[in-house]
Amino acid sequence: MIRYHARWICPISSAPFSDGTVAVENGRIAYVGPRMHAPSEGDEHDLGDVILTPGLVNTHCHLELTAMRGFLDGLGFRDWILRLTSARRAVFTQEMMLDAARLGVVEGLQHGITTFADTGDSGAGFDALLELGARGICYREVFGPDPAQCEEAIAGLAAKVDEMQQRATDLVRVGVSPHAPYTVSDALFRATADLARARGLPLAVHIAEGALESDLVERGEGAFAEGLRSRGIAVAPRARTPVALMESLGVLGKESLLIHCVRVDAEDVAAIARHACAVAHCPASNARLGHGIAPLTQLLDAKIRVGLGSDSVASNDRMDLLDESRLAALFAGARERRHDALASDRALSLATIGGAQALGLDTTIGTLEVGKQADIAAFRVPEFRSPVHDPVSALIFAIAGQKADFVAVAGDVRVRAGRLVNADPALPGRVQACAELLQGWLAH
Ligand SMILES: [Zn+2]
Repeated sequence: MIRYHARWICPISSAPFSDGTVAVENGRIAYVGPRMHAPSEGDEHDLGDVILTPGLVNTHCHLELTAMRGFLDGLGFRDWILRLTSARRAVFTQEMMLDAARLGVVEGLQHGITTFADTGDSGAGFDALLELGARGICYREVFGPDPAQCEEAIAGLAAKVDEMQQRATDLVRVGVSPHAPYTVSDALFRATADLARARGLPLAVHIAEGALESDLVERGEGAFAEGLRSRGIAVAPRARTPVALMESLGVLGKESLLIHCVRVDAEDVAAIARHACAVAHCPASNARLGHGIAPLTQLLDAKIRVGLGSDSVASNDRMDLLDESRLAALFAGARERRHDALASDRALSLATIGGAQALGLDTTIGTLEVGKQADIAAFRVPEFRSPVHDPVSALIFAIAGQKADFVAVAGDVRVRAGRLVNADPALPGRVQACAELLQGWLAH
């Protein structure tokens, strides 16, 4: 047994308290409570003036795109996604995407993220999570806007998923992701949902993110519609809204994670609740790409499971879930014009147990409770961000943006004294070299 002492502990499942201890045995939490009542056996580690929380859960990211941090700055959504996909095709090798994914996991761990819901085309995120000992679900992406591509696309996805499932562990699991309505035909959505149900796999889909997507789905118009027509793909109005489209194609369900949900109305929210879907709320990415602010409080009022996602660093530039919590709270207040739209304790819940619920992992992680997996993060209070009146409020509003001081996944220490354990010092240089190749490609 090892006992971690901390100035403050935020179990999430109960009120925060000071001068506490979390004891870990065989990868699980064996004690949470006052230091004076903690078990006395085993080793101990005094983490000092830190705020200790459950490991943070990033409900949506794209680890393989980490080399694109800053590469797409200032672009509108259609140019953003076109440059992203053509640069990925032209420049990236599998080894580059693996390095990018490794750096993404490193960044997340350094910010206290212990669980990553990764959507990716290459499988690099899956390999990186396995290698670096983090927890996650890797949703393997499938694309194909032309219904004629459906059969080949679904066969390819099934083969990739089979290969991943053979290497899946208790820590790293497999899912599928039909990308979005502007890259996936109705036939391919149906086939992917069928595959997910047949194999018992979770599904993630980018949905109701921006105006161009709504133009395409609701009216068969706009830049995405023109782009598809220019490729000889027939386009017609498909549904009342993107969420209604997902419902009509059998994509909605308890195992479905809906990423973004910015452009949803009351009927959509009711459908999401009726099908018991979860939502990944990505406030920074949605703002950075000019999509708007998702109706977070309406989703929560409808008892929908919501977690927070950074999205890729190509549309956020950082993977920092405390910062995402801060933005979720600030944007909710701005949108609702209410100071209490999302209090700091609810914002921290979204980044921990909310994400765990959204991913169906809430019996395993998300709170500090005896018997749960010992996924732990501790954040030191920098002197320039002191004093602390309430540790939860301090974490969300003052400390967000700081690195974690200590991180463990299933009891295995990943970050100690602010430094990654077993770091590869050459990794950032290799990702920088990849970024230079991207710049070279852009110049030609
Ligand atoms: Zn995304």
